[in-house]
Amino acid sequence: MESKFTEVYQNAPAEGKETECEKVSLLLDLMIDGEASSEDQQYFNSHIEDCVTCFESHQKQKLLKGLVSGHLKRVIVPESLAHLIKAKIQETV
Ligand SMILES: [Zn+2]
Repeated sequence: MESKFTEVYQNAPAEGKETECEKVSLLLDLMIDGEASSEDQQYFNSHIEDCVTCFESHQKQKLLKGLVSGHLKRVIVPESLAHLIKAKIQETV
């Protein structure tokens, strides 16, 4: 994580862009959670149009979030497992 930060810092192109990226990275969580205001969304979207670094981290976050929520949706006990548990319970009774 630490090396990643150094890398990003070294690649920071122009002055002023850095603070924009900082702001955008703070907005990222809100954007991913769908909690950003429309003003924030506008700022965010216009920034990632020209900033590859932020665009990429947004893509990664979206992907991660998608994986997590996708995983959560699938956390349902499979029927076979339910049967297995029932069988085990019956065995012990
Ligand atoms: Zn940026």
